[in-house]
Amino acid sequence: MKPLENQVAVITGAGRGIGQAIALKFAANGADIAAVDLKLEFLDQTVEEVQKLGRRAWAVAADVAQAASVEAAAEQILAQAGRVDILVNNAGITRDALLMRMSEADWDAVLAINLKGAFLFTKAFSRVFLKQKSGRIINIASVIGLMGNAGQCNYAASKAGLIGFTKSVARELASRGITANAIAPGFIETKMTEALGPDVREAMLKQIPLGCFGKPEDVAEAALFLASPGARYITGQVLAVDGGLTMQ
Ligand code: NAP
Repeated sequence: MKPLENQVAVITGAGRGIGQAIALKFAANGADIAAVDLKLEFLDQTVEEVQKLGRRAWAVAADVAQAASVEAAAEQILAQAGRVDILVNNAGITRDALLMRMSEADWDAVLAINLKGAFLFTKAFSRVFLKQKSGRIINIASVIGLMGNAGQCNYAASKAGLIGFTKSVARELASRGITANAIAPGFIETKMTEALGPDVREAMLKQIPLGCFGKPEDVAEAALFLASPGARYITGQVLAVDGGLTMQ
């Protein structure tokens, strides 16, 4: 028996990067996947690969930052899948600039997708989790939400906010057997980080005790653990997957 056998997982931002890796890891471990991204065509590859693993996959187009879009997505997922056991709030963006040069639009966009998006999706599915008295919520935060970073005050605020959100939700839902945890990835090789120049990469590498960048699969392994039966007694925690970058 696989750890997530016949469970249904909703994963936002599942078209590529960390979200796609989580979708494939969960499917390989028995879960059916409702894969959410901005456009259906972004999800073709994820859906195809989940199906190759012998699991059901539904592609769901939604903007996590828009309440009406999230409500429609939740309705579609519940109608198609019949149930939901795991929610991974992974969709996220960066719009980097130093504070003095950051526009209001860049601040709002990052907060809307990274933080409000998790609020909207969690609200939509916590109704289901409360009814069935079970559910796993996994929020993909960032080490930047713990450490801060020059040029990323919007991103850091969104991820620190997501950690506070996770702990509050964990407290609200614990009595019904629902857990909520955050993962704080460090530097992971995805499209989000490929734009960084060689100097920045070199400087970051020097700060990572394990001496290498992470892969989306490293984050997916942590998410699998938090979703699995073995993590039933863990809630309100932040698990750093960062090569030791933030160790105290
Ligand atoms: P990515 O490759 O840019 O993937 C993000 C995904 O989210 C994309 O598929 C993107 O779709 C989707 N998305 C963006 N805005 C959306 C919206 N409004 N509604 C629905 N989907 C949306 O990024 P990643 O590196 O895999 O990051 C995934 C998560 O991990 C993010 O929350 C990020 O902050 C976090 N994280 C990443 C790192 C890292 O080093 N990579 C480190 C710490 C934390 P589009 O194709 O439309 O853009």
